[in-house]
Amino acid sequence: MTIQGVLIFLSLLVWQAAAPAPQPTPEPPVQLAPGVSFIRSVAVPGRGPDGNTVIFDAPDGLVVVDTGRHAYHSDAILAFARAKQRPIVAIVNTHWHLDHSTGNARLKAVFPNARIYTSTAIDRAVAPGGFLARNLVDAEKMAAQADLPPVTREEIQIFLGTMRATGGLRPDVPLTSSGTMTIGGRAFDVHVSNDAVTDADVWLYDPVSKIAVIGDIVTVPVPYFETACPDGWKSAMDAVWATAFDTVIPGHGKPMTRADFDTYRQGFAPFIDCVRSSADAGTCSAAWVTATSSLIGEDAARRKAVADNMNYYVSYLRKTAGKAADCRASVSVEGRRGALRRLRSFD
Ligand SMILES: [Zn+2]
Repeated sequence: MTIQGVLIFLSLLVWQAAAPAPQPTPEPPVQLAPGVSFIRSVAVPGRGPDGNTVIFDAPDGLVVVDTGRHAYHSDAILAFARAKQRPIVAIVNTHWHLDHSTGNARLKAVFPNARIYTSTAIDRAVAPGGFLARNLVDAEKMAAQADLPPVTREEIQIFLGTMRATGGLRPDVPLTSSGTMTIGGRAFDVHVSNDAVTDADVWLYDPVSKIAVIGDIVTVPVPYFETACPDGWKSAMDAVWATAFDTVIPGHGKPMTRADFDTYRQGFAPFIDCVRSSADAGTCSAAWVTATSSLIGEDAARRKAVADNMNYYVSYLRKTAGKAADCRASVSVEGRRGALRRLRSFD
């Protein structure tokens, strides 16, 4: 997630607390299965999110999937490696959003031989005119403001620091297609889903533990549409569903069962259809809240925050015919029909 995303996410956290950001204490790692551990990101009011981390114990060392944004998150990963007395030999980034990859540099500083496995989608994001390059211009302007709250300034500085050294976000081993791959001596089903949350999202299925680690293909309570191609995203969800997973680890939120995942998946497609129809934004967001109610919970303020965020995304996606401006893929035939119907309705 980038600076704009952070600002959206911050609004999601308002329901949690209006007080200044407390000093975060990362949750202790949880063992999901033998040799598979989970460090859940901590949502800290006033700060941007970190993506979840999953760590596989592989024959050659640890394989870390996603490295978070803040030092407190990457510190938790490093502490895990110290406690296990094992080196980190590989970092897999599910996608280039910086809440999943900013920690690469801190991990590599301690384990310089760790190799980064990810897609090359980062290259377009940092190229002139790319999503992160544009965010950098905005962040530099924000950083120049004198009256920023300290936490906001710190968040911007983290972003600026990462953007000064984007080489640390690039793959040592570029992932371009799906297939079985040995990483750190352990076999994984590696999937590359093109034109989904970003230009190319990487997700893993571990047939031994039946755990799928899918990055931001699922984020509870709301999808992050900033760079999204909704049609490819739907296909990516279907591809996840087609594996024999028992547990999905989303990019944000707690581990999910097959039923949880399907609840989210079944809410996603109708939301996109709604975005591409002439329905009111409120109708689309209400449908999302209803469809994913079991994941969001009953807290009224939280449900309203989710609805507000989804309202925002309806207008965000409608600005560019039902997909993010940064999505290169064309909208599906079905999607085009919907978009056309919507345009006609404004005639
Ligand atoms: Zn994320």
